[in-house]
Amino acid sequence: MIDSHCHLDHEHLARNIHDVLSRCKKEGINKVLTISTKLSGFPKILDIVDKDEMIFGTFGIHPHETNNDQISKDEIISKIKSNNKIIGVGETGLDFYYNISDKDKQITSFKNHIDAALELNFPLIVHSRNAEDETYEILKNSDKNLKILMHCFTGSLTLALKLMELNSYFSASGIITFKNSTDLQNTFKQLPLDRLLIETDSPFLAPEPMRGKKNEPSFVRYTLKKLSELKNIEAPELDKITTDNFNKLFFNK
Ligand SMILES: [Zn+2]
Ligand SMILES: [Zn+2]
Repeated sequence: MIDSHCHLDHEHLARNIHDVLSRCKKEGINKVLTISTKLSGFPKILDIVDKDEMIFGTFGIHPHETNNDQISKDEIISKIKSNNKIIGVGETGLDFYYNISDKDKQITSFKNHIDAALELNFPLIVHSRNAEDETYEILKNSDKNLKILMHCFTGSLTLALKLMELNSYFSASGIITFKNSTDLQNTFKQLPLDRLLIETDSPFLAPEPMRGKKNEPSFVRYTLKKLSELKNIEAPELDKITTDNFNKLFFNK
């Protein structure tokens, strides 16, 4: 099992990193990807990926942070090349729900991350909230070789089908376990198995039956279980498929 998206630099997880990782290993999780969100947090990401061979990381500026951190394509590339355990670009994208950063700054940052991902041939980890049309337009107008991972996918089936044409991957978070997420569950039922990943987005979004608690990477098993019910296959089989998908996307194998 792989948690394709977590934030181990958050205080709650960072402070207990040893226990968090041992619970992962106990549950059969053999990789976690800790996601960068801001420039000032990157040294901590580099520190964390060095703590255990199962931890990999990314570099990117979250859309919430783009008023503070405007970064060029070349700066993104040099950060990523600084450590060989940094294997993805992001998270980047558009968040027009909270609108913490100006729209134009979010868009410029998103495009710079796309250019960096293309030049490196690394996956782009995309965060999109209340910005379906804008996210899709920008991705559609990018080079077709772009490797897209829609993280914590909560978009519509219409968007999912359009993104399929761009060869996107979709990561399911704990949201699919929530009782009120029927539309999203139906969307995941219709997505092909070879496009699916799982994540926690911890410490946020704990899945049922842990909802309301602080999330952690070992809880990804609840999302795997729910997804296996939706896809009507056994959890161990889906575990193998989602693990293979991750390795293909991030390690070309
Ligand atoms: Zn996100
Ligand atoms: Zn995140």
